[in-house]
Amino acid sequence: MTAIPVIFIHQILTTVDDITIAGSLRRMRETVGDIDILVVSNSPKEVMDTFTSLDGVEDIVAKGDTKSSIVIRGMDVDLRVVGAESFGAAAHYFTGSKHHNIRIRELGMKNGLKINEYGIYKGDERIGGKEELEVFKSVGLTYIPPELREDRGEVEAAKDGKIPELIEISDLKGDLHVHTRWSDGKNSIAEMAEAAIALGYEYIAVADHSPAVGIAGGMTEDKIAERQIEIEIVNTRFEAEGTGFRVLSAAEVDIKSDFSMDYKDEILKDLDLVVGAVHSKFSQDRDTMTKRIITAMENPHVDIIAHPTGRILGKREPYDVDMAQLMETAKATGTILELNSFPNRLDLKDVHCRMAKDYGVSVAISTDSHNAMQMRDVIRYGVATARRGWLEAKDVVNTKVWGEVLK
Ligand SMILES: [Zn+2]
Ligand SMILES: [Zn+2]
Repeated sequence: MTAIPVIFIHQILTTVDDITIAGSLRRMRETVGDIDILVVSNSPKEVMDTFTSLDGVEDIVAKGDTKSSIVIRGMDVDLRVVGAESFGAAAHYFTGSKHHNIRIRELGMKNGLKINEYGIYKGDERIGGKEELEVFKSVGLTYIPPELREDRGEVEAAKDGKIPELIEISDLKGDLHVHTRWSDGKNSIAEMAEAAIALGYEYIAVADHSPAVGIAGGMTEDKIAERQIEIEIVNTRFEAEGTGFRVLSAAEVDIKSDFSMDYKDEILKDLDLVVGAVHSKFSQDRDTMTKRIITAMENPHVDIIAHPTGRILGKREPYDVDMAQLMETAKATGTILELNSFPNRLDLKDVHCRMAKDYGVSVAISTDSHNAMQMRDVIRYGVATARRGWLEAKDVVNTKVWGEVLK
């Protein structure tokens, strides 16, 4: 298993009529074992030749007329050429998940239909398969977005016409967790703000570290005051320019192992937004860790809990924490839980996002960017994870304007 890679396939686009990613990558699972690509083409040989000679191919596992497999950057990539009339059925079949497909096949059988990767059949008669939507329609369902196809209730929801209107990147109005040079970020406040404006955002919260994170160059209390002057200069400029953009003054404040926050309340109360985070003593037992985070949530100045389980995919397991208790306390205290978009974090993960929605807890999809490019590059992973967690725009706090966020 490996984190989702980026693969460049435009080299083969000239000879294909249609193309889609399938499999777990299309469902945007947090890790994928391989990559599946489907294409429609009248010159499959040319497609296969191009595919198997892409830059960086390390191994050609198989090369045929309709299917080839290569290894690229250590990742298995399968490419299939399918007929245009089967493209939708194949896209559905190869997107999965296995459990989702079983449910659809069973529904098909109940309706006297056979559904496979080639199409939808009534007896020997082919009644559809060109468009993916036909697969769902044939069994009385509305369209189910790929991120939901895990047999986690999406079939029932589609039957009742209750598939959520999943959040999109374009719904976001700001980023509530970015770093600047005032701690371990690479860019200035103004540079981060300009990058956010380029994304169409209306605000960012600069959440530089508190001192407990020694390696991250945390801000002393004096530094916060100095930074505040710079924030005000930048905001004054934006006001004069009439952009309406706002830099919110925030901090990523350590929740220490003795349950205290790394800044005194007098400091916390002057910040627009306090993002509490665990960065140390991950080995505390479940009760202690749960109480540690709950204590932070109960502090009236703490607004958001960053990366609530502390996991790093492929590197560090989440710390042991009672998520149901965190959800209950978040609901009771109005604390927001972060979905950290970094591809190796994705924390909250998908099922925890769903849990937040069920508990009525707001989620902030943040990037935790340490430079301006990251703000643009990693947000898609957070949004994908939110979609896998059934989140809609109304469930996510940074779809609101900053005045409402501060409330
Ligand atoms: Zn952090
Ligand atoms: Zn951070």
